[in-house]
Amino acid sequence: MSGDAAHRKVALVTGANKGIGRGVAGQLADLGMTVLIGARDPQRGEEAAEALRAAGADAHAVALDVTDQAAARAAAERIEERFGRLDVLVNNAGITGSGQVSPQDAHDQVPSSVDLDMVRRVFETNVFGVIAVTNAMLPLLRRSPAPRIVNVSSHAASLALTSDLHGPFATLLPSAAYSPSKSAVTALTVQYANELRKDGILVNAAAPGYVDTDSNNHTGFLTVAQGAEVVVRLATLGADGPTAGFFGADGPLPW
Ligand code: NAP
Repeated sequence: MSGDAAHRKVALVTGANKGIGRGVAGQLADLGMTVLIGARDPQRGEEAAEALRAAGADAHAVALDVTDQAAARAAAERIEERFGRLDVLVNNAGITGSGQVSPQDAHDQVPSSVDLDMVRRVFETNVFGVIAVTNAMLPLLRRSPAPRIVNVSSHAASLALTSDLHGPFATLLPSAAYSPSKSAVTALTVQYANELRKDGILVNAAAPGYVDTDSNNHTGFLTVAQGAEVVVRLATLGADGPTAGFFGADGPLPW
């Protein structure tokens, strides 16, 4: 590692080969961080890292399928060997379970007829993956002077918003997979934050808004850069920043 690189903060973003994760990685790199592009397909990860490097970033691909605990541990070992620590972890990797259909429009997520295997797949990635990666990376985060963890959740995680019959989510189809998985992500965020606040590790959940990505067949109305902003803000909090919070672009969101 060069002298310059040794002073950079090191950030790992899961599922960063495309979409919001890639946007987050690009913005963190613009702030001077070394960014590690977590990707379950090493080639897609390397292509994304290469594109970011071409734009001036210090970016490196890390093979990481978040559903594979051994892969998470192996990724932590490689990061330790090369960088010695981690300053920022963004748990971004996620699936809707319904292919390229916005989960709020997906008829196959309606609770009374949902396929339980699909629910399991969604929780495996969106929820259990967060635990696997966070626990693998915590020893490295503890070596940072100011560790930050951001879990990418969703407005669809909010029980307050989704149970409001007069609110903006009233017309959305009920979901037994994606929305509950993201509610679990915000719940986990609070539990991790409560455990780690004594160690100065700030843990927050971000809702990026409805962003134009593959995951909703590009029906989102926000750009990736706009969606990434709240995630980047929480990844770069000062020592007096919040922990155990749930935030959208305009501030705190109701649970
Ligand atoms: P996306 O473009 O489909 O990107 C999802 C990323 O997650 C891809 O890099 C994908 O990798 C990766 N991924 C999926 N399963 C993985 C696994 N097992 N291990 C490692 N990586 C995996 O979707 P996005 O819209 O950017 O979504 C990013 C995050 O934002 C997700 O957590 C999503 O739920 C959340 N979110 C999105 C919106 C929105 O409107 N777009 C709104 C709220 C929350 P592959 O390329 O290999 O599939």
